Amino acid sequence: MLLELKLRGIEDRAGALALPSQAVIGGRQVPARSGATFDNVSPRDGKLLNRVASCDHADVDLAVATAREAFEDGRWRGQPPGAQKQVLHRLADLLEQHIEELALLESLDTGKPIREALAVDVPLAIKTVRWYAEALDKVYGEVGASPANRLSYAIYEPLGVIGAIVPWNFPLHMALWKVAPALAMGNSVVLKPAEQSPMTALRLGELVLEAGLPPGVLNVVPGFGETAGDALARHHDVDMIAFTGSGSVGRKLMIAAGQSNLKRVSLELGGKSPQIVFAGCPDLDAAAEAAFWGVFYNQGEVCTAASRLLVQNSVKDELLDRVLKIAAEVHAGDPLDPSTRFGALVSEAQMNTVLRYIETARAEGAALKLGGARVRKESGGYYVDPTIFDALDNRSTLAREEVFGPVLAVLSFTDAEEALRLANDTDYGLAAGLWTSDINLAHKAARRLRAGLVWVNGWDACDITMPFGGFKQSGFGRDRSLHALHKYADLKSISITLR
Ligand code: NAD
Repeated sequence: MLLELKLRGIEDRAGALALPSQAVIGGRQVPARSGATFDNVSPRDGKLLNRVASCDHADVDLAVATAREAFEDGRWRGQPPGAQKQVLHRLADLLEQHIEELALLESLDTGKPIREALAVDVPLAIKTVRWYAEALDKVYGEVGASPANRLSYAIYEPLGVIGAIVPWNFPLHMALWKVAPALAMGNSVVLKPAEQSPMTALRLGELVLEAGLPPGVLNVVPGFGETAGDALARHHDVDMIAFTGSGSVGRKLMIAAGQSNLKRVSLELGGKSPQIVFAGCPDLDAAAEAAFWGVFYNQGEVCTAASRLLVQNSVKDELLDRVLKIAAEVHAGDPLDPSTRFGALVSEAQMNTVLRYIETARAEGAALKLGGARVRKESGGYYVDPTIFDALDNRSTLAREEVFGPVLAVLSFTDAEEALRLANDTDYGLAAGLWTSDINLAHKAARRLRAGLVWVNGWDACDITMPFGGFKQSGFGRDRSLHALHKYADLKSISITLR
């Protein structure tokens, strides 16, 4: 009810928003040094929102030098933990005060439904900041076993300058998965948002200053991957690249690190996550909800999307019927309409990629059960309805490649062995789920699934407290939890001989 109240008249308020367009370097809002801008288009209607500073290597050089200076003079890392904690809590307060503005910016930039941006994206981003604000003074070192005349201990020290390169699907939330723990450990950060969705990162760059983060500690450089992103990845004075995005760019980042200063790299990449429903599923309605929203939430633009549904033959028809019943109520709609739960795809290019995968699946002989076409073309925006293909072979393109859009591949199996073989037969290993009442099967299968996240009887059922990241080609390094703090730190051993 509270959400409905907040959503009332929100479309009118979108028109009155100031849209951020400048980089934030050294505490100041600045254009790109070249003066270049890029067109920021809303997927909602294909119309120009604003022109955003298009940063390149010159801006990245300046941002990195500024971040380095801030790190070396200790204006942030030298502050007592209690003071750092206060700044991060003030930031969370400010994000809360600006929640509607941030949700609108997110929805306009990405095409995600405003009700989700307001109820999920921005609240989770705020929770991330609060969690790391509270965690930052709970990072303990170790005391080693030493002879009586020596004291040896190990402490965590910040790495220095972190380059954070983030995607467009949850722009503010993904940015804060990196920025919050990196700042909590005392680092300086240069954040490069995705060119499709720069606005909330730019607003974040302003709000951190208002919260009391010293200028130069967080710098935001909007721009393209091949220019701003590449310059950051190849920079000799960046200590680490923390990345979320595609595997192809992840590969380039590792090469760039190897060819420059051997900076550390952490990669959160894609997935082709299986959700397995066994005949002994404790709640078929709940499994159907999870099967539907597990892949169609955020228009399928989710790295953990449950894009392969593996169903035991004996319950397959029943489960699919229930999934299709849910689908009958859900159609692509205007992201700014408060009732919309499924919005636009992020760009024309992404829509065309999704449509190409749909064509390929048809050509390979998969049975189309739902959707399969562009809709709302008259709006000028980029919409594809939820799409389901049945009777797929795990070797087919749709079962192997990440679509990053609203397309579900349904496969069937006869027994647990076959289910686990199919689930693990993928290059990816981000998430996996299973539904069963058999506690032995649940434990055994959870251990055998090769994925960084395994959910039993509930999709995406964990939060900031648990590490997030992949096995295999889904990347390495962990976001969320205390492990993310350690990612932005080096471990130093100190030994004192007592004389
Ligand atoms: P992308 O890899 O194209 O872009 C991600 C970021 O990398 C953007 O900021 C982009 O500008 C930048 N980039 C592009 N080329 C670059 C280059 N040569 N050098 C440096 N930076 C460069 O991915 P995307 O299309 O924005 O996002 C979709 C992908 O992200 C999917 O594969 C999805 O699974 C993955 N993803 C993973 C997670 C996760 O946590 N594992 C979360 C969200 C998205």
